[in-house]
Amino acid sequence: MQDEDLTKSRFEIANKDANEMLELVRDKWFSHLDNARIQILFDLKSRMKGARLILGRIMKANDLIRRLTDHFYPGGCDYILFLDKIAFMMVMQESDKKRLVRHELRHCVYNPDAENPWQILQHDIEDFEIEINLNQDNPGWAKRVVQVTMDIYAQQKESGKTKKDKRNTENVVLMKRRKVANV
Ligand SMILES: [Zn+2]
Repeated sequence: MQDEDLTKSRFEIANKDANEMLELVRDKWFSHLDNARIQILFDLKSRMKGARLILGRIMKANDLIRRLTDHFYPGGCDYILFLDKIAFMMVMQESDKKRLVRHELRHCVYNPDAENPWQILQHDIEDFEIEINLNQDNPGWAKRVVQVTMDIYAQQKESGKTKKDKRNTENVVLMKRRKVANV
C-alpha cells in the first residue's frame, strides 16, 4: 500500500468525459480557441489556496512543457488544464463541469502578434464578470462543490489514518510474535 502511494503520480491524463466537456464548451463559447492545443490533467491531490480548495486551473505551456507534450500534439500543447479529479468525477454535475471548464477557458486569450500567441488573462475578482452573469441561475455552485469535495478529502484522510493505525497495531503484534518465536 505504501509502495503504491510512492510510485503513484500526482497527475493523470484526463478521461474522455473531461475532453468532451472541453470540446462542448469550446465549441459553444470560445471559437477563438479552436486551434489551441489543450491537455487536460486530473490532479489527484487537493490543491489549496489558503483555506479554499482549487477546483481547476489553467497554465500556458512553456518551452519545456511543449517539448514534453510533443508526442501528444505536434509542437507540443499550448495550455494545460488541471482539474481536481474528486470534484470532477465524484461531485460535479454536468452543469458544474460546464461552469468550471468555461471559467478556465475564459483565462485563455489569443494574441496573434505575440511571440507566443496563447496568453493567460487574470481576473481580479473571484470570477470574470461575464461568468458571474452566466452563473446567475446558480451563483453558489462553486462553493457547494468545494465544500462537498473538501469533505471527501477529509474522509479519505481519516480512513487513511485508521488504516495506518491498524497497520501499526498489526506490526506491533507481529513484532511481539517474532520476539516470542526468537526466545
Ligand atoms: Zn480563474
